[in-house]
Amino acid sequence: MTSELRPTVGFIGLGIMGKPMVRNLLKAGYSVTVRDVVQAPVDELVAEGATSAATAREVAASTDVLITMLPDSPDVQAAYLGPDGALAAARPGWLAIDMSSISPVVARQVAALAAGAGAEMLDAPVSGGDKGAIAGTLSIMVGGSETAFERARPIFEAMGKTIVLVGPSGAGQVAKVCNQVVVAVVIEAVSEALVLGAKAGVDPTRIAEVLQGGLASTKVLDMRRANMLGGTFDPGFRIRLHLKDLKNALELAREAGVVLPATVEVEQLMQRARIAGRGEYDHSGLITVLEDLAEIRVCDVASPIS
Ligand code: NAD
Repeated sequence: MTSELRPTVGFIGLGIMGKPMVRNLLKAGYSVTVRDVVQAPVDELVAEGATSAATAREVAASTDVLITMLPDSPDVQAAYLGPDGALAAARPGWLAIDMSSISPVVARQVAALAAGAGAEMLDAPVSGGDKGAIAGTLSIMVGGSETAFERARPIFEAMGKTIVLVGPSGAGQVAKVCNQVVVAVVIEAVSEALVLGAKAGVDPTRIAEVLQGGLASTKVLDMRRANMLGGTFDPGFRIRLHLKDLKNALELAREAGVVLPATVEVEQLMQRARIAGRGEYDHSGLITVLEDLAEIRVCDVASPIS
């Protein structure tokens, strides 16, 4: 197939999310060039059919479309800016897609620099977690031009199911910040409920079961019930990264003139988890902070999940 019909793809950031996303691109028939600061995932994906390049600039120079899936705004700036950054190889017709969750302000800045080189850039953060990345069912919220979005659509379809152009540059990151506010506050609410029920002497496994039948039902319990009742918090989505998203939410709120009282509280609880050395826990590990305060462990009193 010619490169016009099936563009070659560069992919930088091969962590919990990036690695399975690359596998889905390979499965869909794309030729993918990968890079990460850690060598192990690069070797794994090369063994599965990807090629590798030494710098972000080389990845960008050798591919039609670059995707980045990095932790935070400074990592995205490091990958795009500077002499070995991807934008050093930006050219008319080249498309960059940042799928990391970062500050909308930084997303707009990097996109403007790409536009200055005649290239196009989309911000396209995702939700759906590691499970969605593996299954290729991510929700993708996109900011940028309609033409760039239509160009990227087949690539998005290899990785996601719900794919929405939410607005101009930066709008995808705004939508993602909104998403992360909801997820954080719901995890905190579920944590409060399970700790309260446990301390009041009722089996939290039964409480979780019955909550799922009514208005209180939530995807957080569908996807994180085993973690919260079992007291095991391998990520998933790291508390450290969710804290970064809440920082972006609070910055955006300040800029937009909005008050987010519950988000402030949850940010402080996540901060407490990080200070206690739990920054690498899955975000469902937020429950441990509530458990500390109530002096109980839900997993000590929860019956096995049937
Ligand atoms: P991760 O920490 O598992 O992976 C990040 C990868 O980027 C690592 O392999 C790291 O070595 C690499 N990296 C960092 N800086 C780099 C650089 N300058 N050049 C090349 N590689 C670099 O993180 P993740 O969970 O995969 O998350 C990635 C992004 O997706 C984050 O912005 C996160 O908020 C977002 N996200 C994560 C989830 C989830 O459930 N894990 C869900 C939705 C969105």
